[in-house]
Amino acid sequence: MTFLFNNYARRSLSIVKGKGTVVEDSSGKSYLDFTSGIAVTNLGHAHPAIVDALQQQSEKLWHISNLFESPEQEKLAESLVDGTPLAHAFFCNSGAEANEAAIKLSRKHSQKHVIITFEQSFHGRTFGAMSATGQEKVKQGFGPLLESFRTVPFNDKEALVNAADDQVAAILIEVIQGEGGVNVLDHELVETINTLCREKNILLIIDEVQTGISRTGTRYAYEQTNLKPDIVTLAKGLGNGFPIGAMLGSEELFDSFGPGTHGTTFGGNPLAVSVARKVTELAFPDSFTNEVAEKGSYLTKLLSPLLDNGALKAIRGKGLLLGLECTDEAAPFIKQAEEAGLLVVPAGPNVIRLLPPLTVSKEELEQAADILKNILLSTVTIDS
Ligand SMILES: *Cc1c(COP(=O)(O)O)cnc(C)c1O
Repeated sequence: MTFLFNNYARRSLSIVKGKGTVVEDSSGKSYLDFTSGIAVTNLGHAHPAIVDALQQQSEKLWHISNLFESPEQEKLAESLVDGTPLAHAFFCNSGAEANEAAIKLSRKHSQKHVIITFEQSFHGRTFGAMSATGQEKVKQGFGPLLESFRTVPFNDKEALVNAADDQVAAILIEVIQGEGGVNVLDHELVETINTLCREKNILLIIDEVQTGISRTGTRYAYEQTNLKPDIVTLAKGLGNGFPIGAMLGSEELFDSFGPGTHGTTFGGNPLAVSVARKVTELAFPDSFTNEVAEKGSYLTKLLSPLLDNGALKAIRGKGLLLGLECTDEAAPFIKQAEEAGLLVVPAGPNVIRLLPPLTVSKEELEQAADILKNILLSTVTIDS
């Protein structure tokens, strides 16, 4: 008997507290948390500076509504768009909501309605974001869906070019598909996307809900490409566990989101904003993002023997968003890792996704790699 709906396949494990990379369950057993709550607690659990920011704000003001000016939202917006082609921010409470805002803004601005999305993409569970998502399992049973999404295979240049006709308002893309299997956008497609957007007057929306906030070794994953987004969506890591989402947009979109066009009660709530400001202060300096990139390379190097001996088919991703493609189903390995004290998540049926906090130590990376090697190697028969 449960008082909860059964919409999550929950593991029979109840985590009660955490510090940095380590979490503890109700029986007192410790685990290395290489899920970060799915790319959320990017700065680790109970980070003292973030706890302090939240505590201080909680004594001043919890909520005041967007009826009033918000100097704190202004400062957060500035830190998010600094050094990008984007100029303005809208704050909401989740990734799906950030994508809803992007869908609405791109349609209103372009006065067109078709949005190109990709197979295996994930954009959230609200009606618009679900319709945009390129995975049948997410949409099953909820039809008819919104019609205006045109889904093409990921990394298929020809299909993309064919889909990009004069009705297209926007291309909505993840630079690395997180939920869909840690699939990295081919560099070859970058120029195609840029050309299509320019020639057909198509807006480029990059969904950085999972890849943003320094997860891949730069503040945003698109910064490692030549893409020039008109809109970027964020959530997950932005509040380190405090719910907040954001849509960032270029200067030219400003007038299309005038007073009364869009909104949400809690968006840019003072508690969320105080936390997110501390997160960007800590996670955006180059010294920090460079370390994330180095840790990602180190972890990849530690795991590379598993490629050489055939236990893994591929290691994909960037920074600390890594996907280990197994030769078979990932689920049994994930269970074994949990028993050995390491929490990881799948991404599609055959991929183990590694999402440690970006603050993870070298020693913790080594411990996790040892656990993974033990588990994955035990399944390979080594030829003698
Ligand atoms: C998680 C995720 C979303 C949805 O975010 P929610 O906060 O769960 O609504 C959207 N896009 C991507 C790429 C995601 O990983």
